Amino acid sequence: MGLSTSGFTGYTGKLAWVDLTARKTFVEPADPAVYRDYIGGRGVQARLIYEHLKGSEPLKDPLGPKNRIVLGSAAPNDTLIPTAGRGSCSFIGTMTRSPEAVPWVPGHEPLYGLITHSSCGGLFPNMLKRAGIDHLIIDGKADAPVRILVSEGKIEVLPAEDELFEDRGGRKIVRAASAITDFLTKKYPGSSTVCLGPGGWNKVAFACLTADHHRNFGRGGAGAVFGSKNLVAVTAFGRETVSYHDRDKFQRLGKELDALVKGYASDPAKTASFRPTAGTTWWLDRAFRGGYMGKEGGYLPWHNFDEGSFDAADYAKVSTGAFLEIAGKHNVCNRCRHIMCTRSASVDKGPYAGSGVRPEFETIALWINCCILDRDAIFRLNHLSNELGIDTMTLGSVMAGAMELAEKGYLKSYANAPAFGSAPDMIRTLEAIAYGSDELGRLFGQYSDRVIAGVGAAAPASDLTEIARSVTTAFGGLGYAGVEPKAFPGMFTAYGTSNRGRGDHTYAWTIQAEEGGLEGAENLAGYVAAGQEGKALVDSLGLCDFFTADVTSDLFLSLYQALTGTEHSAASMTACGKRIYALERHVNNLQGRGRAYDAYVPPKLTVPMSRGALKGRAVDPAYYGSILDAYYRTQGWSKEGIVDAGLLERLGVKP
Ligand code: SF4
Repeated sequence: MGLSTSGFTGYTGKLAWVDLTARKTFVEPADPAVYRDYIGGRGVQARLIYEHLKGSEPLKDPLGPKNRIVLGSAAPNDTLIPTAGRGSCSFIGTMTRSPEAVPWVPGHEPLYGLITHSSCGGLFPNMLKRAGIDHLIIDGKADAPVRILVSEGKIEVLPAEDELFEDRGGRKIVRAASAITDFLTKKYPGSSTVCLGPGGWNKVAFACLTADHHRNFGRGGAGAVFGSKNLVAVTAFGRETVSYHDRDKFQRLGKELDALVKGYASDPAKTASFRPTAGTTWWLDRAFRGGYMGKEGGYLPWHNFDEGSFDAADYAKVSTGAFLEIAGKHNVCNRCRHIMCTRSASVDKGPYAGSGVRPEFETIALWINCCILDRDAIFRLNHLSNELGIDTMTLGSVMAGAMELAEKGYLKSYANAPAFGSAPDMIRTLEAIAYGSDELGRLFGQYSDRVIAGVGAAAPASDLTEIARSVTTAFGGLGYAGVEPKAFPGMFTAYGTSNRGRGDHTYAWTIQAEEGGLEGAENLAGYVAAGQEGKALVDSLGLCDFFTADVTSDLFLSLYQALTGTEHSAASMTACGKRIYALERHVNNLQGRGRAYDAYVPPKLTVPMSRGALKGRAVDPAYYGSILDAYYRTQGWSKEGIVDAGLLERLGVKP
């Protein structure tokens, strides 16, 4: 990345580089042109990873020292813009892999891990900015456990203290995430820490990073990447305040934007209005029962994505209302106002008594998909996942696959295989995965095609197809999110084409639009592509998915100009979203992703649902193929899903 001494406002204008192998660090000025073209956060991180990988072979081992991981913030972070407390983390994912040819995927092509961006709130992203840097770029691998301290512009690689570890069965392993955080917070009062947990230390393919006790860089395996680098934690502390191109203008327009977002949060026609009370759990009732604006439900996944509905009496135990009963006060990300989706929670009695935070919709939905109908156990599992540094969502998908394999008798040779509906089994299996403490845990902590091969090795060859059929995370899947994938073809397209892997729901969300009548291959493809590009902007601006306001509106663009001095029109801002998304896709192409990956439909998803309001729905591979054709045309990619050099040039991606 080129150097510049030009002044920045909004951003700190500084990049911090860490080479863990050499234990060297340095800070350099950032290039304003890169921040103009890629905005910040996720966008700049995509550029930094592209520059690292371009011109070389694919990065074949995301757990090798060559994998770069970048933590970053953006210009709006730590300003009065509502929800401006989200940070980003990018790397090549450890879950989205299928490097060896496998017979259960027709037309398989080797896949070495996709570029993954993970978003996290809490205080950490804003504290990183206060510490004086926009992006922290971490390369290499330390030869002994270390941690990084970013304090008031100074970057240090320090030995990880013995207190951060414990002995478990003769093995030295990191303590739970909260113990690491508490130790470092005591050492550096006022700081914020992001760290791995035991899952990351053991390089579980879906290990997350945990910030501020319960905020996570969740999806894709950031914790495993830290573990592979012998890196335990990054602690940030600083007092820098945000600089403004035109402070008075920013304050004036900021109040206008604040009032707009406040209005959304009190408008019953907007989903933002439900967030301050029910948070994301509002979607539980919506997905099961419907009832919002006259829509029907029937898309809350059940029994490893076989159905979108189950008995109403069972649902009442894990409904939106059930989780409202244990909710406490707001416990929101730094700088969040009005939308405020997160609440603390506590369970007063019983085997799962304790305090923590209310689990999110996606987590709950994916554990209902394991037929877990015990609210208090879900609360406990959520807390435990945060402590162990395991992504709750991918855990749900992996666990549902394990339960189906056990139900079909394929896990008989493993002690303690989990059964559908058993919370104690799920807790035990979660711990076994995170600590790698038994054979089953070590197997299911890997990417899914290795799991299928491992289970298949103990079964007749003729059973391999059936084994693979139980695992919806096969062929580099991240794991489907909490909306039943059979229910909506547009959402299935969003799942299938997300840059960070099959099953991701955050890059495009089509449910309201499809319930409102959006249909047809071209329309669905266009909607998904526009959503993905818009989300690339939101992530690059350090904002939350629930920000709700339009980042290409005149108001937001004027505010952005008052903050950074950068003039963007709606067209040029939208072009940044396209540029970021296409560059990420290009990196994924280099890692082996093409149409074969996008087009894969887990066979069990082609079986129609047998009950509920959406009875009869299933994924139609031929129709999905036609949406994919339209999607590639919309994106300007080849029929095989490849971003060519001409498109990159037209989008302004410098080689
Ligand atoms: S709406 Fe929720 S996730 Fe988003 S910034 Fe606020 S508290 Fe955080």
